[in-house]
Amino acid sequence: MNEDATVVENKSQQKNINHLPVINASSYVAGKKLVSDKLLEVKSPYDNRLVGTVTLANASDAEEAIQVALKGGKKLTRYDRFSILDKARQLLIERKDEFARVISSEAGLAMREAIYETGRAHDVLMFAAMESLKDDGQIYSCDISPQGKARKIFTTREPLSLALCITPFNHPLNQVAHKIAPAIAVGTPVILKPSEKTPLTAIKFTELLYDAGLPHYMLSTLLGPTDQIAEPLVKDPRVEIVSFTGSVAVGKRISSIAGYKKVILELGGNDPIIILEDADMNTAVQLAAEGSYRNSGQRCTAVKRILVHEKIKAEFTEKFVEKSKTYICGDPADAATIVGTVIDEASAIYLESVVNKAVEQGAVILLGGKRTGALLEPTVIDNVPRDCDMVMKESFGPLAPILGFKDIDDAIALSNSTAYGLSSGIITNNMQHAIRFIKELKVGTVNINEVPGYRIESSPFGGIKDSGLGIKEGVIEAMKCFTFVKTFSMPW
Ligand code: NAP
Repeated sequence: MNEDATVVENKSQQKNINHLPVINASSYVAGKKLVSDKLLEVKSPYDNRLVGTVTLANASDAEEAIQVALKGGKKLTRYDRFSILDKARQLLIERKDEFARVISSEAGLAMREAIYETGRAHDVLMFAAMESLKDDGQIYSCDISPQGKARKIFTTREPLSLALCITPFNHPLNQVAHKIAPAIAVGTPVILKPSEKTPLTAIKFTELLYDAGLPHYMLSTLLGPTDQIAEPLVKDPRVEIVSFTGSVAVGKRISSIAGYKKVILELGGNDPIIILEDADMNTAVQLAAEGSYRNSGQRCTAVKRILVHEKIKAEFTEKFVEKSKTYICGDPADAATIVGTVIDEASAIYLESVVNKAVEQGAVILLGGKRTGALLEPTVIDNVPRDCDMVMKESFGPLAPILGFKDIDDAIALSNSTAYGLSSGIITNNMQHAIRFIKELKVGTVNINEVPGYRIESSPFGGIKDSGLGIKEGVIEAMKCFTFVKTFSMPW
C-alpha cells in the first residue's frame, strides 16, 4: 500500500466514524410515538445516503394533538417552567455532539456550523429559563388626572391556549428552540411542524424536552402532508397563534388562510453589508466573508449583497477574493470543511442558474461558481447589474455579489431597493454616517461594524416589508407573542 492510499483509507475511516447509523424517528402526539407505514426518508444533501426515516402523521393525529393540548394537564408554575428549561439546557450540553452530527447529516452544514448552532440553542434555553422567573406585571395608578380616582390597574400575562409553530430547514435546531422555549417559558402548549428537510433534529429536541420533564400535553411534533397537517392547523380556530419562520411565499399564503388569530411571520431577507470609504479594510473583508458564507449562506440574515464605495472597491475586491479562498468547501463531516452543502441539489441548481443569468447580463465570476450536486463553491461575482435576480431576490446560498456605490445617498437607495427589509451591516468609523444609515434604512436591524446577522438570542429580532410584519421575535418578544395581557383593577 503506498502512502497516498493510506491517507485515503484513513480519511474514509474518519468519514465512517462521523456518519451516524440510520435514525428511525417518529412524529409525536403529546409524547406518544406515532406508528405508521407512511415514512419520510431523510437523505444527506452531500452524498444522498439515507440519514433517517420519520413516521408521518395524518389529519386525525393533528386533531388528537389539538384535543390533548387543549385538555391540558398539570399547570406549570414559574419554577416548574424554569426547571424544565434549565434541565433541557443541561441535557443539550451533554448531547451537543449528537445534535451537531444530526444537524450536519440532514442539513449538509459543516460540523463547525452545527456545533455553533447547539451553542445558540443553549443560549435560547438559558434566556427562556431566566425570563420565566421574572414577573411580567405592571401597575398603573389611576389618581393621576382630573378624571382619575383612587384605584390601581394591574396587568398580568396569561398563556394562549394553543400555538402552532412552523419552522424552516436552515437552522434545524435553533429555529425550533426559538419557538418552543419562549412558549414553555409562559406555559403555552405547542404543536410543532418542522421542515420536512430537517425533521430529525426537531424530533430529537422534542425528546430532549420530554426528558427534561416537559408535560406531554405541552408539545406535539408532527410531520406529514401540508394539506393534512400544516394548512388545516393554520386555519383551525382553536389554534390561537401561528408562529411561522420561512419563505415569503409560504408566509403570505399562511397570512391569507389563517383567519382570526395572531400570526407571526419571520420571512426571507436580502441583507446588504455596506462598506464605506473610511471603513477598516480588514474588518470589512472579514465580516463580508463571514456574513456571506457562514451556514453555507443559508441564514435569513446572511450577507446577500456586498455594497462597496467605488473608491475602495478594487482594493476590497482583491482582498475579498483572497479571503474567500480560505473558505474550504466539501464534505460537511470533515473537520477541515468550512462551507458544507446547501439544502439540496435543486437549490444549488437554482443558485447556479441565477449566477449564469447575471453573467449573461454582464457580471463576472471572480472565484468559485462550480457545483457538484448540492455542493456549491463560495462564489464571488463582480460587475453585478443592480436589477438582476441575484441581487433583487433572495439567493439562499454562498454567493457574494459585489456592487459599487458612489455616495451615501446612492448606498441607501440601493440598499432599500429590494422588497425585503430584514437586517443590514454598515462598516464605517464615521458616527454621522452610521446614524444616517440607522435612520434611513428600511430594515428591522442595523448593525454598525458587524454582520447583519449579529444578535443575542433574547434581543428583539425581525424584519419589515416582505421580511415580516414588524412583530419581533427573540426570547423576550416571543414570550409576549405567546401570551395575552389581562388587566384587573382594584380600589386602592
Ligand atoms: P419554506 O419553504 O417556506 O418552509 C418553511 C416551513 O413551512 C416548512 O416547515 C414547510 O413545510 C412549511 N410549509 C410549506 N408550505 C406550507 C403551507 N402551505 N402552509 C403551512 N406551512 C407550510 O422555507 P424554507 O425553505 O424551509 O426556509 C428558508 C426560508 O426561511 C428563507 O426564505 C429564509 O430567509 C427564511 N428564514 C427566515 C428567518 C427569519 O427570522 N426572518 C429565519 C430563518 C429562515 P415542508 O418542509 O413540509 O414543506
